[in-house]
Amino acid sequence: MTYAALPATPSVADERGIVLHNEKVNAEYRHLVVGTSALAATAKPGQFFQLACPQPPGETPYLRRPMSVYGADPKAHTVSFLYKVAGAGTRGLAMLRQGDRCGLMGPLGHGFWLDQAWRNIVVLGRGVGLATLGPLAGMAQKAGVGVTAILSARSPALVMSEEVFREAGAHVIAVTDSEGTADPANVDRLMRGLIADGLCAAMFTCGSSRLLKLLQKLARAHDLPGQVALEQQMACGLGMCFCCVRDFIVDGQTEHRRVCWDGPVFDLREAVA
Ligand SMILES: Cc1cc2nc3c(=O)[nH]c(=O)nc-3n(C[C@H](O)[C@H](O)[C@H](O)COP(=O)(O)OP(=O)(O)OC[C@H]3O[C@@H](n4cnc5c(N)ncnc54)[C@H](O)[C@@H]3O)c2cc1C
Repeated sequence: MTYAALPATPSVADERGIVLHNEKVNAEYRHLVVGTSALAATAKPGQFFQLACPQPPGETPYLRRPMSVYGADPKAHTVSFLYKVAGAGTRGLAMLRQGDRCGLMGPLGHGFWLDQAWRNIVVLGRGVGLATLGPLAGMAQKAGVGVTAILSARSPALVMSEEVFREAGAHVIAVTDSEGTADPANVDRLMRGLIADGLCAAMFTCGSSRLLKLLQKLARAHDLPGQVALEQQMACGLGMCFCCVRDFIVDGQTEHRRVCWDGPVFDLREAVA
């Protein structure tokens, strides 16, 4: 399916879900699970929610904060998020306790898509981008598509979503700064090997401009398709405020698109890193 052929977001829930779980997974990240309506739980990989954040002492996170769907269970009516505590908003989210209400609006935006012709794909992400990419593994598994996941992080303890990829049958390669394996030259070498072995019909990325540039170069050199989930500071999340506009190069021309409404998943080769 092409970018232009994607359907608009059908309908969006704006509700106060019930916090079922909000625990630390390591020094920087927390896992939040919210009981929601059936509509919210229809969220697909790559879509996101706007979360209302409680006020930490002395701080006022006024706007809702965008968070990718880490998991959605349409039977149990739950949606989960994996988030890094970065500033006032996410410090507020970290205060939520089991049984609290959590304001959320979504699912928003367009998620990842898979072409029926693809037998094997490569997913390459870093940091919080791995929260966005994690559920793509289950989507690929259901579609019978093999996944190699290159997960990049500062250190082994911060490699996120590894178990999600493994549970979905992905071949996982973790690369880290601390072990000296996350440098672009090594990732480029790994990618070229996967392409040569016929394991990369398409490539997917999120979380690093440097990795996006690397994949764009490879996609052009090998004429391979790909998708990128962009993380851009947002305000409304509904396409009205034009706060998250970014440049894209389409057929040699610059186009301006809203990350929240036209994305957040875009054609890899059209995004400007
Ligand atoms: C579509 C989308 C999906 C996202 N999914 C996730 C996710 O699954 N998990 C997760 O941890 N984070 C995700 N983010 C990033 C998350 O929204 C920001 O980290 C969050 O808004 C920061 O809010 P804050 O008030 O805690 O920090 P702030 O005080 O607002 O900012 C703290 C730091 O985070 C940076 N930041 C702020 N907003 C963003 C943003 N939108 N993208 C990247 N960096 C930002 C700031 O530049 C600053 O360096 C996503 C962003 C988008 C747009």
